[in-house]
Amino acid sequence: MPDPEPGPGQVLLKVSAAGVCHSDIAVMSWTAEQLTFPLPLTLGHEGAGTVAAVGDGVRGVEIGESVAVYGPWGCGACVMCAQGKENYCVRADELGIMPPGLGAPGAIAEYLVVDDARHLVPLGELEPVANVSLTDAGLTPYHAIKGTLPKLVPGSAAVVIGTGGLGHVAIQLLRALTPARVIALDVSEEKLELARTVGAHEAVLSDERAADRVRAMTGGAQAVFDFVGVGPTVATATSVAAAEAEVVIVGIGGGVAQVGFGAIAFDASVRAPYWGSRGELIEVLELARAGVVDVHVETYSLDEAPEAYERLHAGKVNGRAVILP
Ligand code: NAD
Ligand code: ZN
Repeated sequence: MPDPEPGPGQVLLKVSAAGVCHSDIAVMSWTAEQLTFPLPLTLGHEGAGTVAAVGDGVRGVEIGESVAVYGPWGCGACVMCAQGKENYCVRADELGIMPPGLGAPGAIAEYLVVDDARHLVPLGELEPVANVSLTDAGLTPYHAIKGTLPKLVPGSAAVVIGTGGLGHVAIQLLRALTPARVIALDVSEEKLELARTVGAHEAVLSDERAADRVRAMTGGAQAVFDFVGVGPTVATATSVAAAEAEVVIVGIGGGVAQVGFGAIAFDASVRAPYWGSRGELIEVLELARAGVVDVHVETYSLDEAPEAYERLHAGKVNGRAVILP
C-alpha cells in the first residue's frame, strides 16, 4: 500500500503498536454479502502511534506526540456524539463513517490516517505497546462493567466468561473498581491460570456443569460478562444471574439470550453493548496510569501478523497479541 497523506482535518500517525482482536477473525469469516465495506481492508482497530503529519486546519496535536486512537468514530455532532458516545453515533451508518480496521484503513500498517484529532487521546508517559489494547480490550469491558457498578456491592459476585484479550482486562477492572468476588470461566487451563494471575478469586472450567458450579459458589451473581457470546456461554451467563442481576453479552458469537418470566432470575436484565465512549477511554488510560490494569501482551512483527491471527484463532494467545509495524 502507498503511504497515506492526511487530508484537511486529518492526522497521520506513524503506528507504534496495533492490537489483534477476535472481532477481526469474525470480519475475516464474513461473506461478500455480509461485508459493509469494500475490500481490500487493512485490519487493526486498536492503534497507537506518534503524530507524523497533520492536514489543513488541524489543531490541538503536536508532531511527535504519542497518542492512542479512539476507534468507534462517529459524526461528532449528533446527540450521542455530543456526549462522547461516538460508539452509538446516530448518523455513522447514513454518513458511511466506519472505524479504522473495520471499514476505514486500520492500524496494522506503518501509517494510519485518523479522520479527526478528537479521536486521539494523549498517551503521555504510557508505553504504547503495553497499552494500545486498552483502546478496545480495555475500553469495551470498562464500558460493560461501568453500568453494573451499583450492583457490585460488598458480598456480591461477578462472573467473567472468556478470559482472553477482553476478559483478562475485565477481571482486573472488576478487582480495581469493585469489592465483588470475581469468578472466571474459560475452556483451557492456561487461560484459567492467567485469570487467577490477574486477580480472579475462582477460575472454573467452562463446560456444561459450569453454571451449577458457579451457582453453588455464589448463589447467583449480580453481574455476568460474556466475552464469548456463543449459545452455550449465553445460556450459562443467564442461568447464573441472581435476581436483579445484569447480564452483559459482549462476545459476538451469535448466541441469543432467553428472557421472559421464569426463563431468567426475577428482574434480571440483559444488554449487549458495543465498545465505549471517548470519556471512558480517557478513564481507562487513567487506570493504567494508576497501575491497576496491565495488559498481558505477546508481540509480533508486521510479517508475523498472520501467525498472530492463527494463534488467536486456535485459542493460544495468552492475553493480547500486539503487532509492531
Ligand atoms: P479472545 O480470543 O482473546 O478471548 C476469547 C476467550 O474465550 C479465549 O480465552 C477462549 O479460550 C475463551 N472461550 C472460548 N470458548 C469458550 C467457552 N465456551 N467458554 C468459556 N470461554 C471460552 O477474544 P477477544 O479479542 O477477547 O474477544 C472476545 C469477544 O468479544 C469476541 O467475540 C469479540 O469479537 C468480541 N468483541 C466485542 C466487542 C463489542 O464491542 N461488543 C468489542 C471487542 C470484541
Ligand atoms: Zn454522531
